[in-house]
Amino acid sequence: MRRHSVFAIAREAMRDHTGWPRAWARVEPRDRYDVVIVGAGGHGLATAYYLGKNHGITDVAVVEKGWLGGGNTGRNTTIIRSNYLQDPSAAIYEKARSLYETLSQDLNYNVMFSPRGVLMLAQTHHEVRGYQRTAHANGLQGVRTEWIGPGRVKELCPIMNIEGPRYPVLGGLWQSRGGTARHDAVAWGYARACSDMGMHILQSTEVTGIETGPGGVQAVNTTRGRIACGKLGLVAAGHSSVLADMAGFRLPLESVPLQALVSEPIKPCMDIVVMANTVHGYLSQSDKGEMVIGGGTDGYAGYTQRGSFHHVEETVRALVETFPILSRLKMLRQWGGIVDVTGDRSPILSKTPVDGVFINCGWGTGGFKAIPGSGFGFAELMATGASPLCAAFGLDRFREGRFIDESVAAGVAH
Ligand SMILES: Cc1cc2nc3c(=O)[nH]c(=O)nc-3n(C[C@H](O)[C@H](O)[C@H](O)COP(=O)(O)OP(=O)(O)OC[C@H]3O[C@@H](n4cnc5c(N)ncnc54)[C@H](O)[C@@H]3O)c2cc1C
Repeated sequence: MRRHSVFAIAREAMRDHTGWPRAWARVEPRDRYDVVIVGAGGHGLATAYYLGKNHGITDVAVVEKGWLGGGNTGRNTTIIRSNYLQDPSAAIYEKARSLYETLSQDLNYNVMFSPRGVLMLAQTHHEVRGYQRTAHANGLQGVRTEWIGPGRVKELCPIMNIEGPRYPVLGGLWQSRGGTARHDAVAWGYARACSDMGMHILQSTEVTGIETGPGGVQAVNTTRGRIACGKLGLVAAGHSSVLADMAGFRLPLESVPLQALVSEPIKPCMDIVVMANTVHGYLSQSDKGEMVIGGGTDGYAGYTQRGSFHHVEETVRALVETFPILSRLKMLRQWGGIVDVTGDRSPILSKTPVDGVFINCGWGTGGFKAIPGSGFGFAELMATGASPLCAAFGLDRFREGRFIDESVAAGVAH
């Protein structure tokens, strides 16, 4: 694979970019791989990448029913932060955030990580207490966050109305090294690096069945034929329970649509990410100038990958109170993704009742930020049978009552 460098880009500019090879190879499926990963979203691709990079396992196929990154990875609002309350969460999200810092260099692919800072607004006294507690917990966990007052909030985000009639801004939890990255580029960068290691990325290939026997997993049946495998990783977000059903076990998950929208592009007016959980909306400005706005989940389970008007209305109405300038913007488009939500709002990274089948899911409304850490840990779990990053996130916790309650950090937003 030709590396991206200043010289390579200059050379290609001179010849109309005709010399670049395909970013990832288009291949026919083989009969068998050591490892098959279902789902070419960020988590599946990152798992494959760290299997190769950290554990030398490269006989891997990533099987994707649609196109690469076409699930939630390509539909999210790209907020990256690690200010979670519980220790296991802070560990995996901070691992991910720190890997994002150098991901462009590691992958030799610009993922546009922009650590512009993430601010979670406190607009009720309950939130003040909650975020101050999180700031103390983060201090103990080695995650750099701070509690800031309304004056500093206004300095960081001048377009904000901190004296809203219903919910004045009382302060916020500030993570200066949080931010955003380009979601497609994260998927493409991992895919390119995997392909470079000889792994197969099989797009338009749906898994329709999973064959198991006394020794555990044997193969997946796909729309392009049967593929035998030694180990199988299910990394399919909103469709995780459908795949678990094929393998013969159940998951404590609900799949619900989550929506986002963008405005017409305007001149730069906001250079941080703001999450306003009380009024229920969050906001950042893209490089193109669009205001990127996230809303909430539908109140019912569903597999419809699209937005709905009542959410647009509710989200914009809530945000206009805190960001009055939004009232003059036109909204350009809206979309939805199917997110997989657990009862404690924490992910599942686990072995399963079927030998050789591993599951990575339950990232719900907030898994984009976790992609590098999740891939790092899940690859270790698949390769060696155990991973310190994943240990607390096993399926057993739902039977044993060891919940990792992140409903404050993750229940509403991202
Ligand atoms: C509107 C919205 C906003 C969000 N905002 C944020 C945010 O700001 N920050 C944040 O951290 N997170 C956010 N998230 C959550 C985040 O997008 C997800 O947690 C994350 O992208 C999940 O990645 P994944 O790789 O697990 O899943 P996906 O990217 O969904 O990948 C799973 C893949 O599995 C494939 N698949 C499913 N079934 C099969 C099958 N039978 N055979 C083959 N392939 C199959 C799907 O086609 C899909 O491509 C948001 C999500 C949405 C929808």
